[in-house]
Amino acid sequence: MSISENLRNLKNELPEHVSLVAVSKTKPVSDLMEAYRAGQRIFGENKVQEMTEKWQEMPKDVEWHMIGHVQRNKVKYMAEYVSLIHGVDSLKLLKEIEKQAGKHQRVIPCLLQIHIAEEETKFGMDEGEAMALLQSEEVQAMKHVKIIGFMGMATFTEDQAQIKKEFQTLKALFDKVSAERPEIQVLSMGMSGDYVTAVACGSTMVRIGNSIFGARNYH
Ligand SMILES: *Cc1c(COP(=O)(O)O)cnc(C)c1O
Repeated sequence: MSISENLRNLKNELPEHVSLVAVSKTKPVSDLMEAYRAGQRIFGENKVQEMTEKWQEMPKDVEWHMIGHVQRNKVKYMAEYVSLIHGVDSLKLLKEIEKQAGKHQRVIPCLLQIHIAEEETKFGMDEGEAMALLQSEEVQAMKHVKIIGFMGMATFTEDQAQIKKEFQTLKALFDKVSAERPEIQVLSMGMSGDYVTAVACGSTMVRIGNSIFGARNYH
């Protein structure tokens, strides 16, 4: 099936309150443009340099989401245009975003990445670290960063019960925090392999690559 057909099917399937980030990493701009012409405006990338090159080539009404792990020295390249940074997992990174966003007189929305998977390799904070960050005076004083929710990745497994348990854990944190803080509105969870479960567990934003663009070839 074509990119536009894949998008149409997904749009029909997703509830209206769930936003769709089209994960276009490794894909050529021609593929992104096909999605753009089909109405897609939110694209997700996991490398700052690749995202910046695509930002330069694509129409300016695209929203660019950084979904990958961010190195602090790369923040300056996306501070001018990035719409949402999903993978914030330290105060140091947040401070750099604050500094670089300030240079462009912008407020950059961010999600705190929470570690919910069993694998050691996935990035993210635990619940205690996230709460400490949210409550710290230093973060509350930031003028160019706005934390608007959480992001998580489930364990890469066929075990749907395991995935569900992990998404439910993140949803519980989201509910607890958003009840006290109205600015916490986004719960980014779900990829091609697990978005149905994620949406059932209360996701408000899914990040989908393969099911839109086809399998990626890494060289
Ligand atoms: C690549 C990636 C996705 C999309 O994965 P697919 O399996 O292609 O849907 C989602 N989230 C993150 C953080 C990714 O790196």
